[in-house]
Amino acid sequence: MRALLAEDEQTLGTWLSKALEGVGIQVEWVNNGKLADVSLQNNDHDVLILDLGMPGMDGLEVLKRLRARDQRLPTIILTARDSLNERVMALNAGADDFLAKPFALVELEARLHALVRRARGNEHSRLCCGSLIFDVQKKQFSLCGEILMLSPRKHAVLRVLIQHSGEPMSKQQILDRVFSDDQDVHPEAVEVFVHRVRKRLEGRGVRIVTMRGLGYALEEA
Ligand code: CA
Repeated sequence: MRALLAEDEQTLGTWLSKALEGVGIQVEWVNNGKLADVSLQNNDHDVLILDLGMPGMDGLEVLKRLRARDQRLPTIILTARDSLNERVMALNAGADDFLAKPFALVELEARLHALVRRARGNEHSRLCCGSLIFDVQKKQFSLCGEILMLSPRKHAVLRVLIQHSGEPMSKQQILDRVFSDDQDVHPEAVEVFVHRVRKRLEGRGVRIVTMRGLGYALEEA
């Protein structure tokens, strides 16, 4: 899971980034609303943890702009206690959940997982690209009606591509999603896995194309 943390309190931001990374959640931390707004436009996160009072642009405005771009990124707001008014405004702006400061890490972690699960549950349970189908519940690929067995890394690479089919994914974007647990992986490793997956799909009605300067995209052959 990749989270964008928008929080201007230095101590809280430092602690949260470290603590969340410690439980396997990748964190991009920005301490300014404008930076959050820019980063969100890359559409590169699974969840947003948003503070309301921030320099540059306040959290509510960041959220309004996100929803105005029709981005459905699940968003949890960090609020002060007893802030009914803030909560109502944030709900109207499209927030999904709230957590009052101070909070326990385990609670934030549980809520993040629940939000991401809920968002994924709303997606189609089957993803298709030509003759390739991914069953989201069974986490299984089939190609031309037959189950396609892949090693975990190849499976993960193909999953990223089918979730974004038709849209190019850069090596770095694939790397972040597939090898997030492994700090030492070089972007070139992605090339190797893409090459192997590409071979498995050859001549079967679906292919991975290389888009120069943009990355890889899955499309019907
Ligand atoms: Ca703040």
